Amino acid sequence: MRFATKAIHAGVEPDPATGAIMTPIYQTSTYVQKAPGDHKGYEYSRTHNPTRTALQKALAALENGKHGLCFATGMASIDTLVKLLKPGDEVVSTDDLYGGTYRLFTKVYAGFGIKFTFVDMSDPRNVEAALTPNTRLIWAETPTNPLLKIIDIAALAALAKKHGCWLGVDNTFATPYFQNPLDLGADIVMHSVTKYLAGHSDVVMGALVVNDDALAERLAFLQNSSGATPGPQDCFLVLRGLKTLHLRMQRHGENGAAVATWLAKHPKVDRVFWPGLPGHVNHAVAARQMRGFGGMISFTLKGDRMADATRVLSGCKVFALAESLGGVESLLGHPASMTHASIPREERLRIGLADTLIRLSVGVEDVQDLIDDLDQALASLG
Ligand SMILES: *Cc1c(COP(=O)(O)O)cnc(C)c1O
Repeated sequence: MRFATKAIHAGVEPDPATGAIMTPIYQTSTYVQKAPGDHKGYEYSRTHNPTRTALQKALAALENGKHGLCFATGMASIDTLVKLLKPGDEVVSTDDLYGGTYRLFTKVYAGFGIKFTFVDMSDPRNVEAALTPNTRLIWAETPTNPLLKIIDIAALAALAKKHGCWLGVDNTFATPYFQNPLDLGADIVMHSVTKYLAGHSDVVMGALVVNDDALAERLAFLQNSSGATPGPQDCFLVLRGLKTLHLRMQRHGENGAAVATWLAKHPKVDRVFWPGLPGHVNHAVAARQMRGFGGMISFTLKGDRMADATRVLSGCKVFALAESLGGVESLLGHPASMTHASIPREERLRIGLADTLIRLSVGVEDVQDLIDDLDQALASLG
C-alpha cells in the first residue's frame, strides 16, 4: 500500500464485536479470562490495549517498520530506549538536540554512568571521530531543532553498522511522510507523536518503530516494566489524526516553502534556515533523503537586538506564541528565551542560537494570511 492509503487504513480493522469502522476507545484496565491464562491476548492495559495495538500497527506501517511501540510522551519513548544501555556505555549525539532530550541525557542518565558526547552531526566525519569501543548508540535528529541542520542518515547507518552499534533517529520534524529512517538503514526511529502525527495540539505521546524482532521484544519488555504507556483515548485521537497526515503534511510543506522563500527576500530578515532553500548548507543531503522539506523554519533578524525579536513575536496575530509544533495552527517561538533558555548565552551563541532567532511551525492555514501576518509584524520594526 502507498502512503495515503496506509495513513487511512493501516492497523485499523472493523471492530470484531460490532463492526465499528473506527477502532473503539477500549477504556478498560483489565480483561476477563475464561480460566487462568486462557484469554484473548489481553490481560492488563499497561501491557496491551486494543486501541493502542491498532495505533502501534499504524505507526509501524507508516515508517515501513515491523514493530511499533507507543509511550505516554516523546520523552518517555527516549527514556525507555536509553534503558537498553548499561553503565559504561556511550552515546554519540548531535549538538543541536531537542532540549528535553539533552536534559534527559545530561541531567538524568549521565548520573547512571552512561556517557554522552555531542558533535555537529551535519558532517558525518565528526561522528566517526567520536565513536569509541564503548559506543552503543548513535542518536540523531534530522532536521534538527531549531537550526534545521540536516544529518545524512545513510552515512550514519553505515558508520553504526561498521561499528556494531545502533543508530536511532528522532523523526519528529520530518514525519514518515517526508522521511523514513529505517529505509535508510537506521535501527530505531522515534517520534514525539505530540507534534505532526497527532497534528491537532490536543495530545502528548511518543513512539518507537523498529524492524529487529529481538530489539522489539526488549523494548516491549521495557515499555511494560517502566509503564509509561498512553491511555486509549489518546491513542484514538492519534488514530484519527493519522487519517489526514498526508494531506496536512503536503500543505505544511507547501506553506513552508512559500513562507521561507518570502522571508529570504525580506529586508529586515538576516538568515533563513529551511532545508528546501538551495542555499541551505545541507540542501543536497536533504533533497536526497527527504521527499519534501516540511513546515519548520527558523530565521534571524538583521542587527542583534533581542527587543526586535520580542516585537515580532508579540506582534503576530495569526501565528500564536507558544512552545510545541506540528499542529494545524501556526505557532512561533523564541529559542533563546523559551526552549533553549537553560543554555548559557555564550554557549547558545557559540552553537548559532542568536538572540533574534525565531522559530516558526507553519500551519495549514491560507498561506497569504500567514505571510500578511509576518509582514505586519516585521513592519513594526524601526
Ligand atoms: C517535542 C519533541 C520531543 C519530546 O516529545 P514530548 O512528546 O514533548 O515528550 C522530542 N524530540 C523532538 C524533536 C520534539 O520536537
